[in-house]
Amino acid sequence: MNRRNFVTRGAAGMAGMLLSSPLTGSAAPPPGEAATRSAPPSFDLMKEVMKYRKIDVHAHIYWTDDSPETQLDYGRRLGIEKQVISRYLDVMPGTPEQFRKFNDLTIKAIKKYPGQLLGGFVLNPVYQKESLEEIKRCTDAGMIGPGELYYQVKINDPKYFPIIEKLIDLKMIIHSHAECQLGVGGYRMKYNGYKQPNTSIPEDFVDIARRYPEGIFQYAHIGMGGDWEYECKLFREYPNIYVDTSGSNNAENMIDFAVEHLGEDRLFFASDNSYYQGVGRVLSANLTDRQKQKIFFDNYNNLLKKGGRGVD
Ligand SMILES: [Zn+2]
Repeated sequence: MNRRNFVTRGAAGMAGMLLSSPLTGSAAPPPGEAATRSAPPSFDLMKEVMKYRKIDVHAHIYWTDDSPETQLDYGRRLGIEKQVISRYLDVMPGTPEQFRKFNDLTIKAIKKYPGQLLGGFVLNPVYQKESLEEIKRCTDAGMIGPGELYYQVKINDPKYFPIIEKLIDLKMIIHSHAECQLGVGGYRMKYNGYKQPNTSIPEDFVDIARRYPEGIFQYAHIGMGGDWEYECKLFREYPNIYVDTSGSNNAENMIDFAVEHLGEDRLFFASDNSYYQGVGRVLSANLTDRQKQKIFFDNYNNLLKKGGRGVD
């Protein structure tokens, strides 16, 4: 074979391979072969998203004109039936006048959208009498319990005790902001003054959960960016600490790890307004459909039912 023949045959051979190759995708398979050449399976992601009932147990409303409509729009598109909203008290010192105003914003929203929103109130135990009065006012207005309690007072501070006892009487889920605050090598982080010194940390949750074993505590946003492995390992032996899965960070394996350490009953689906991340991380966990449904909806709803506030 001379060189010219080789090139000609080689080119024809290559063309023939391309025409018959199942990898090209452009040539239709000959009749009768379609069944044996399986196309990549199609996957309808939104069908998967919408098949689970969902309560988002940690979301917020804002002072802007588009709130809560923007939050409701996300919820509608992701099949979130209810969002537990609050306006967290990100002001100091957090006077009664301030927390009443914040709660008024939430009350207005839940009255406008009673089918989609569940309200959580905020308070400040420094003002103990006013906080107890506020629990009554907000409960009468239809709120289901505390929203994300904030950094004015640590959750295990004695100023909180009468308030926590009241919330236990009312069979409410006690939800508080918290930060892991562990840095490199497991050392506590030192701050430059940006962080409030009374922010609750995981150890504060353990302390209060031991003091009130009958209390139901919701540790906020394990997806916030802190050391969720540390949090989940620490909470392992305290069955009355639940974690909400919210946060804007999307670490792989977080949900799997949390289920491994806490069990499938102690996680609540939540977004903290990072809606796609919130839904996606539960959806993509290596769990059964039943386990996902428990996290998305049942775990939290079962606790709401204990207080007569369940979702049908
Ligand atoms: Zn928070």
